[in-house]
Amino acid sequence: MSLFVKKFGGTSLATLDHIKRVAEKIIKARDQGDDVVVVVSAMGHETDRLATLAKEIGANDSNLHREVDVLLSTGEQVTTALLTMTLIKMGCQAKSYTGGQVSITTNTVHTKARILDINVDKLQADIAKGTIAVVAGFQGVDENQNITTIGRGGSDTTAAALASVLGADECQIYTDVEGVFTTDPRVVEGARCLSRNTFEEMLELASLGSRVLHSRAVEIASKYKVPIRVLSTFSDAEGTLITNEDNETMEKPIISGIAFTRDEAKLTVLGVPDIPGVAAQILGPVSDANVEVDMIVQNVAADKSTDFTFTVRREDYDAAMKILNKVANDVGAREVSGDNKIAKLSLVGVGMRSHAGVASKMFQVLFDESINIQMISTSEIKISVVVAEKYIELAVRALHSAFDLDKD
Ligand code: ADP
Ligand code: ASP
Ligand code: MG
Repeated sequence: MSLFVKKFGGTSLATLDHIKRVAEKIIKARDQGDDVVVVVSAMGHETDRLATLAKEIGANDSNLHREVDVLLSTGEQVTTALLTMTLIKMGCQAKSYTGGQVSITTNTVHTKARILDINVDKLQADIAKGTIAVVAGFQGVDENQNITTIGRGGSDTTAAALASVLGADECQIYTDVEGVFTTDPRVVEGARCLSRNTFEEMLELASLGSRVLHSRAVEIASKYKVPIRVLSTFSDAEGTLITNEDNETMEKPIISGIAFTRDEAKLTVLGVPDIPGVAAQILGPVSDANVEVDMIVQNVAADKSTDFTFTVRREDYDAAMKILNKVANDVGAREVSGDNKIAKLSLVGVGMRSHAGVASKMFQVLFDESINIQMISTSEIKISVVVAEKYIELAVRALHSAFDLDKD
């Protein structure tokens, strides 16, 4: 008998008919003799709808973030109840839980909280009784019982965390595509579904924008050695298995996938004096405001002044710009400029470790399409470039073909 944590995403729960189909999948697994704990996301685009309402009130202000979490967490509470009622109607023992009710304890960074601890007592008692626990993803409570959420797309992470503390055999992420593809199959028709992937490559793909998995889910599953399987709610295909091992005996392709994100913005402080401490002075207040900085580039000009450019998530652009306008004054910089219509594209593959020339081929392909590269960053197994947002799909398609990732 195996224990599976099964997480269902928004599209899989969009209507009552979808919820019924999900219930049938769960019952099928249980009838095969397996134990199941379920994690749900909110129905369809419900979290987007709630986030838009909050934005209309001006909830970007951090003093409202506690209330934003109270609002955003309601989406998952609805689906736990609807799915549990459906399971009971279909003859199962089932019980719904909010994050707080199963003691998913997080820190207090509202809207971006991190899971600290989970008490598995209730879930283990349910498993022992044959009751299917249906847990709300994406949410927890801090030590003072304030409701928190753990970042958009975070119900994958709830599932991976539960699978880890329960010692599950697999964490199964059910979604609206057949598995992890070489790139987003909605953008490149010829994208290929991977049968296996390693945690290492998946972590890069997820952190660089492949929405199909939340990067912290991969981090947790890798740390606790729980295999993740990404598979479709709408078919019986095996999906993509993500583990530590790289079982393929044949030589792997140099590039295993292309990730991209439109969710980017860049800010530049121009004419900064080239003296020690300036980078800390610029980025300190940005990080104090909980704005994550991604790529950073600094150039020293002949007159010994520097231009300092960095990227942030697009939703943090206004907050970062406000901070920079103040900081620029303090450090004696000439001016601040920004662009929130950029996108980032990354080639990922462990094969890059042993193959030179990937970067030059990438730059040539982008040049052939007349796409200007605004920023570049590399690590051992990835190369990322920033381009104007309007060229992102063209760039992904061109690189997908050039690196032989298209389906045969
Ligand atoms: P869910 O609501 O099930 O969590 P998401 O929308 O978060 O679903 O993630 C699934 C989507 O991720 C797919 O519909 C697909 O468009 C997108 N996606 C991006 N990159 C990839 C990739 N490499 N492989 C598969 N899907 C991807
Ligand atoms: N419902 C949340 C969101 O849309 C969490 C998730 O889907 O994973 O971000
Ligand atoms: Mg998701």
